[in-house]
Amino acid sequence: MIADNIKLVLRKIDAKCAEIGRNSNKIKLIAVSKNFSTDDINRAFDAGLKEFGENKAQELNSKFDVLGNKVTWHFIGHLQSNKVKFAVRSAEYIHSVDSLSLVKEINKKSEQFSKVQKILLQVKTSEEETKSGIESEDEVFGFVDRCNELSNIELIGLMTIAPYTDDDEEIRKSFKYLCKLRDDLNKKGFKNIKELSMGMTSDFEIAIEEGATMLRIGSAIFGQRNYSKN
Ligand SMILES: *Cc1c(COP(=O)(O)O)cnc(C)c1O
Repeated sequence: MIADNIKLVLRKIDAKCAEIGRNSNKIKLIAVSKNFSTDDINRAFDAGLKEFGENKAQELNSKFDVLGNKVTWHFIGHLQSNKVKFAVRSAEYIHSVDSLSLVKEINKKSEQFSKVQKILLQVKTSEEETKSGIESEDEVFGFVDRCNELSNIELIGLMTIAPYTDDDEEIRKSFKYLCKLRDDLNKKGFKNIKELSMGMTSDFEIAIEEGATMLRIGSAIFGQRNYSKN
């Protein structure tokens, strides 16, 4: 099941890339395994996937205890300061950085773990109340300056979640905004901010069209999540 799903998703990514002339090797597929077991992660791993995303620090931590660095972990959820140690311990990337106190705490914990933590800034790119993230372009520039001062943080990109709508143009607008912000940062000299983490099961093809370099795909790979299980 999972292996078939993965084949289908990879085929769609390849087809979209071929259609618009992008190289699919430049796009990282992150399998979002939240609410799924380490057995399911192993199935996806055996089918060829190496990158996995989790949105709860403790769930990531316990899966890391089982699988360790056999796979590459991405933390993609809201992160509370008191759980930063779990994310820093396990994750190669933290996608969801949206406060300066969090940046500071990640730097501190990374120092303790003797690592340089790769992070992305989560940007709010739609009006939707429920979406979190940094709200203005000025604020993003402030974060970039702060990250540059901290030696255990490496800011590599921007992340967003598109609005929950079936209006493709609304979704596209949100992705375009993130891409332009990245390009503006590059023009101002911040050339290491390359990654655009955007696109989920319902909108990854639009995200590819708008320049995504990291896709976070869950249900198209693992099936519907059953929250009542936990
Ligand atoms: C759950 C989640 C995803 C994956 O969602 P699907 O619709 O299942 O692909 C992507 N990004 C974030 C931040 C998530 O929490």
